[in-house]
Amino acid sequence: MPRPIHASIDLDALRHNYLLARHKAGSARALAVVKANAYGHGIGRAIQALGGVADGFALLDLAEARALREAGITAPIALLEGFFEPADLAEVQALGLIPAIHSDAQLGMLERATLAGPIDVLVKINTGMNRLGFTADTFTPALARLRAVPAVRGITLMTHFAHADDEVGVAGQLATFRRISAGLDYPVSLANSAALLRFPEAAGQLARPGIMLYGGSPMPDLQSAEALGLRPVMTLSSEIIGVQEISAGERVGYGGTFVADGPTRVGVVACGYADGYPRHALTGTPILVGGRRTRTLGRVSMDMLACDLSHLPEAGIGTPVTLWGEGLAADEVAAAAGTISYELFCALAPRVPVSVRSAGA
Ligand SMILES: *Cc1c(COP(=O)(O)O)cnc(C)c1O
Repeated sequence: MPRPIHASIDLDALRHNYLLARHKAGSARALAVVKANAYGHGIGRAIQALGGVADGFALLDLAEARALREAGITAPIALLEGFFEPADLAEVQALGLIPAIHSDAQLGMLERATLAGPIDVLVKINTGMNRLGFTADTFTPALARLRAVPAVRGITLMTHFAHADDEVGVAGQLATFRRISAGLDYPVSLANSAALLRFPEAAGQLARPGIMLYGGSPMPDLQSAEALGLRPVMTLSSEIIGVQEISAGERVGYGGTFVADGPTRVGVVACGYADGYPRHALTGTPILVGGRRTRTLGRVSMDMLACDLSHLPEAGIGTPVTLWGEGLAADEVAAAAGTISYELFCALAPRVPVSVRSAGA
């Protein structure tokens, strides 16, 4: 028998969350962001859930874009970092991808390319994130160069918000965007999940929801995924494979960071950081054992972690454990580990077997 750890992907929940995003987008279209192997959920599974449903997709990797096209997806596909070398351009054109153009280097490649047909592009404007894009000073000449490239057909202006999920909000960057793009009549793409949920008026014509599709709250400190109407997509489960009864003063795990203050029943779970569980999750991280909530104890090992069964006498070897997902928000586990659900999902290790669930399949 393989180790009992297992991840299950709920395709219906993914579809539900996408449809919620599209509803929030109003008249805008919503590109499902499926970068990073659909935030660790599997690009093929995202296609299963969203193919024929999503208005379009956004990702980074040409190979993932190819997988979408090979699966018969004809909807628009945006490349959020654009292309990286001249050789990419022929395939971008052939697959009908919409690259983000954010640098003079990319403009140069476009100018020198001989393309077999037209391409649509997103022009990335840096409104304060200071990651990718043209600034107030460089945007106008960049747009002029782009418009002079005969193969360039549709142009959409795009920016990315740095504070859509916190108290700063999007007003400042939105004002900068409007100033830089004043007088231009191109469609715009602005909102990630947090902006779409908090500032739907800033959705533009093409929203780019990511984390909310996978059931993570983009702002867990402000609103839980459940309160937002999102359903968990990935459930990571395992089982108790060992039990220890310890007394006051005894310790658990590497470094003995947990010290029992009384008789404690310790459950050992087949899940560790080599499965993608965050090693930074401290004692007290929530975990479900037999559907009941308890806490982790001590440091997470490579292949195992410990939890408190003191108030769960019925739990023992073979009792099912939920690390996150159905019944326990990944956001809560992430918070206890000082990170965000995005990182937990993306870190799911290749050694964890994955299955899909869908009422319709
Ligand atoms: C990842 C990404 C998104 C999606 O962000 P979420 O916070 O996951 O909704 C949108 N736009 C760009 C440019 C991105 O890189």
